[in-house]
Amino acid sequence: MEKLFLGIDIGSTTFKAVLLNGEGRVRHTLYQRTKPADTGRVRCTGICSGCGACNFGQLRQTVYQFLKDAGVDSLKSVTCTVVTGSQIVEDTKDFVPYDFRVSEVTAHVAGARHYYPDCKAILDVGGQDSKAMVFNDNMKMWNYKMSGICAAGTGAFLDSVAAKLNVPVSEMSDRANYDSDLEFSSVCAVLSATSINKFKNRFPLGDIIGGACRAQARTIMSGVGELFLGYKGDIVFQGGVAYNRAVAYYLRQITGNNIIIPEFHGVMGALGAACLALQFSSLKGKLSDADFRVAPSQKLDSVSLRAKATRSEFLGHGDQKPLVWRNLFFPAELLNALGVQTLTLETYAALFARSQHKVKKAFDHAACKGFSGETCSFLRVLEGVKLPTPSCVISTSQPCQQGERIFRDLARNYGIGDQVFSLHTPAAGGTDGSNLENLADDLERTVHRMEKATGCIMSMDRLAEACEYSNEARKYSYLCNHLRYDNIPLLPGRQAIYFATIFSQAWGTQALVEIQKRFYEELQQLAEQQPAGRKLSDTHRLLWLHLPPFYDTHILEQVEQKCKAPIVFEEVNFIGWEPLDPKDPYRSLARKILTTGFMDPDLRVKSIVEEGRKMKFNGCILYNHGFGRCSMSDSSFVKHLREELQKASVPLLVLDGDCVDTTVDPCSTETKISAYVEALNEQKYGNIFGPLKER
Ligand code: ADP
Repeated sequence: MEKLFLGIDIGSTTFKAVLLNGEGRVRHTLYQRTKPADTGRVRCTGICSGCGACNFGQLRQTVYQFLKDAGVDSLKSVTCTVVTGSQIVEDTKDFVPYDFRVSEVTAHVAGARHYYPDCKAILDVGGQDSKAMVFNDNMKMWNYKMSGICAAGTGAFLDSVAAKLNVPVSEMSDRANYDSDLEFSSVCAVLSATSINKFKNRFPLGDIIGGACRAQARTIMSGVGELFLGYKGDIVFQGGVAYNRAVAYYLRQITGNNIIIPEFHGVMGALGAACLALQFSSLKGKLSDADFRVAPSQKLDSVSLRAKATRSEFLGHGDQKPLVWRNLFFPAELLNALGVQTLTLETYAALFARSQHKVKKAFDHAACKGFSGETCSFLRVLEGVKLPTPSCVISTSQPCQQGERIFRDLARNYGIGDQVFSLHTPAAGGTDGSNLENLADDLERTVHRMEKATGCIMSMDRLAEACEYSNEARKYSYLCNHLRYDNIPLLPGRQAIYFATIFSQAWGTQALVEIQKRFYEELQQLAEQQPAGRKLSDTHRLLWLHLPPFYDTHILEQVEQKCKAPIVFEEVNFIGWEPLDPKDPYRSLARKILTTGFMDPDLRVKSIVEEGRKMKFNGCILYNHGFGRCSMSDSSFVKHLREELQKASVPLLVLDGDCVDTTVDPCSTETKISAYVEALNEQKYGNIFGPLKER
């Protein structure tokens, strides 16, 4: 009997299916728009009779009808089925049984390579997002970039233009005036589509359509084209939008590259999935079923100690000491030596994130004060909740300028506008030139101001002692880090990320020494217990940059558990500074601030690459809080980081999201993670599915 391989791609807008035979020849294809079921129900009973009344039933019916049209009696006659697409969910399997699920990125690459084995650049533009995929010769792997949360640069934009002009989207390219020089906004899809109202009664239809298609091409490039920078050659253009020849024409004009539109461009994701089904069936028995997952999240004493300390610091009632608001970057050693109670505002805001109900209320309050989504969500929470009033506020001018301004606004609201003391932290140059001396003087001046504001007096003996405690905690933290660098994953990164050691407000206290010491002992035990014969190279080794989301989310689990790619280390636990000199506390604390990493983007990139090398990383994920609006993950930093990581042959995955606000989580996060690990799998194991059994 002929072997058959089925690929199904359910996207935001259309359903695609491709049936391949054992020689990889296309037997049958389907491309059709999806629509909600008449009943409006997702599923009816859970036992599907295939009547098609609910959404899942309709899907099942579509697949069976597709097979019937291809002359195949049932899904049982198909050797292997692979699915892809943003609309595949856990339950899909109950209605359309499949063997494997892959990301759309990997499916599109497989589809393009089926017809163009030597292709190096692919662009897929669908109804909801666009994706660029480029083969990186240096890393020998496919790199990709997906567009963000805006509909600009996607089929949804063209659909809305077509609807406004009352022209079928399929006729747009025939009716476009290719010489039109009407300029649409390429900032936002909604704005852009409203340009139609402006043009409608003043310009010929062809000019408007031509302008819209040109805007579409430019927005695609501004969203994902960064990947094609410096690339000269053919770009395989696929996805539903490739039906629109005008967009292809403008893409050619803008990029200067030849644009190839494959015969089956509309169904290339499904075609790729079918090709992967073919590969999967030949690999099935050879894939390792060994549990390569990261160490189970064992209950560690140090974790409970840390949680207890956080609870008493932030949620306890305090002990009558004067309160000081601090930002994450001001050295806690000074506050602990001064004997004040500290509230690190960003950490306090993060603690709210677990209760989205409270976050919502805080955002409502902040909105009434005029703070929109443009303001960082950590800071919006602070604007929206009632904080305990402090004696003074201390901050740093870098790296979060918006934070410093909001702290000043809050201080004014709480009637202490003249008690904000901000260190002038330079954004570049590290400890060079006058940076160090100026900052040391500034620190000393700030302490005098705090003395006046709080009534506490700094004792130099206590400051020296705080430096000793800080050094002791640093020593254990350093040893912990190296144990983790040099071993198989000893604990899940999704647990360790929340330690955020460098931001702790306990630096300079005995409490932190004890937590880090206990953590070190526990890591030593874990290292001794590791199963014999396991090697560092058995698994991927990922480095997580910046913060994680603080609300309940599965994205870190998806990386570590589902995709079996351990997060071996986290940037927020780097120990990059030299021990403090208790005899010269201000200068050495100034040095600590300047060398912690986050302050100076160049230094930060350098330490990411250096520490990454020590932990033998093969992947790096940046959680892009605030979609690039945060100064700690803005576009220039990301570009610089990507370039330096490329030199180290480590691909960067940028996950757009928000640490506090769940509502702006783009739906492509799962796809991005899967695609990234699939590419790492291919590079490391020679196939996208995972490690092979040892021969
Ligand atoms: P998804 O995979 O996200 O479901 P597709 O890759 O199928 O989306 O792309 C859907 C988009 O393709 C539509 O929003 C529409 O703009 C465009 N499109 C679909 N069919 C045609 C066509 N015949 N002519 C021009 N554009 C089309």
